[in-house]
Amino acid sequence: MHILVLGAGVIGITTAWYLRQAGHTVSVVDRQSAPAMETSFANGAQISVSHAAPWATPQAPMIGLHGMGNSTAPVRFSPTVNHRQWRWMGAFLRECLPGRMRRNTDTLARLAVCSHAELQLLRRSLAMHYMHAGSGILHVFFERRELDRANARAQWLLAHGIRSEYCDAARCIDIEPALASTTRKLAGGLFAPNDEVGDACEFTRELAQACVDAGVTFHFDTTVDSLDIQNGRVRGAAVRDARGTRGLLRADEVVCALGSHTRRLVEQHGPRPALYPIKGYSITFPAGPNAPRVSITDEEHRIVMSRLGDTMRVAGMAELGSVTTDIEAPRVELLTRLVRELCPDIGDTSAAQPWAGLRPCTPGNVPLIGRSRIPGLWYNTGHGSLGWTLACGSARLLTDLMDGVQPAIDFPWLDGSRH
Ligand SMILES: Cc1cc2nc3c(=O)[nH]c(=O)nc-3n(C[C@H](O)[C@H](O)[C@H](O)COP(=O)(O)OP(=O)(O)OC[C@H]3O[C@@H](n4cnc5c(N)ncnc54)[C@H](O)[C@@H]3O)c2cc1C
Repeated sequence: MHILVLGAGVIGITTAWYLRQAGHTVSVVDRQSAPAMETSFANGAQISVSHAAPWATPQAPMIGLHGMGNSTAPVRFSPTVNHRQWRWMGAFLRECLPGRMRRNTDTLARLAVCSHAELQLLRRSLAMHYMHAGSGILHVFFERRELDRANARAQWLLAHGIRSEYCDAARCIDIEPALASTTRKLAGGLFAPNDEVGDACEFTRELAQACVDAGVTFHFDTTVDSLDIQNGRVRGAAVRDARGTRGLLRADEVVCALGSHTRRLVEQHGPRPALYPIKGYSITFPAGPNAPRVSITDEEHRIVMSRLGDTMRVAGMAELGSVTTDIEAPRVELLTRLVRELCPDIGDTSAAQPWAGLRPCTPGNVPLIGRSRIPGLWYNTGHGSLGWTLACGSARLLTDLMDGVQPAIDFPWLDGSRH
């Protein structure tokens, strides 16, 4: 079968790899000049299996209200007149119900465990580097109540084989001595020793090169304008190159992995996938001599920090209502201040490279994987805050679905009723 993959982010490239390994002829198209130039470019770098949790929780509506129009809140909500935003928020609020949160957490945990195993296999078989480190992730908390709530969640994740150690403040500092100089009062933390970090952009580019070597064809600098639909079936995509020359890319099946841009493409043909962008920021700068070696997540401010070789990557902020990747200096300053409060000796933040990306979010954080309502079109998108963690598993499972093989995990695969 000839399969056309739309999008060369971490999701599109992993999809191309697994489809090619299954024996298909694969082409990939992307509007950028190289893989991973958009949301997969400078994310938080965490393979966070222990925290593959939905953002929609019973506490989320209060966090959202606090951040309404508040420019200094890490989670910021700017209401717009856009009906898509309100429809998405209505769906998000439904997913905050305890039963739904629990179901979404179980689904994400299954996918994260499967994805982690696939990533490890791939790393070994292709001898990949991508600044990978397996030193675990430490989630730190400043309020006892939040720590206890997270610990209760960690207990139910044990059923999925996901292990975290409950730590008091002293044990957190044992695990990561950089926390000794924090200016805030630590309540404690949860340490997930099996979690990892690695540069998603470098991984995507290494894997894209392996795809080229395996015979995958790439069309960069090529924008997809619409799907080519004949007699109700997708036959390919209508594209435009950098000089504006229009053309058609034909295929037997098409996989849409356009991240936050999926909705804009498919809406013109009828389906309205429940996807909305949530903007985030990162800064990357030279690590100081006492910078953390273990990846840290500050749950209260929703920031993560990961060491990638000699540099530190700090990522965070969640903005609903910003649909561009423009960099707002006050948001970068806030991120810098928060990380310096947590780890004053982290490194030279004055040399930081700022970046912003749009997380492609579904209301319950569960990605859209499987057959769309339009024959011939498949989705692998909507991975929100967890695309790097979930990429390899999502791509492997989609490949199984397309080949008619029973996928290894129970998952709400897409069918007509999901849209
Ligand atoms: C601040 C931040 C921190 C994060 N931290 C983490 C983390 O620590 N761990 C984790 O697991 N996840 C993290 N994520 C989430 C993760 O980065 C995303 O889920 C993931 O990158 C999404 O990948 P994607 O391939 O779906 O989208 P993208 O990487 O955006 O890829 C989509 C591709 O489609 C192309 N495209 C779009 N429209 C068109 C068109 N019309 N024609 C042709 N090409 C088009 C784009 O050029 C792009 O290459 C973070 C995200 C952010 C913003």
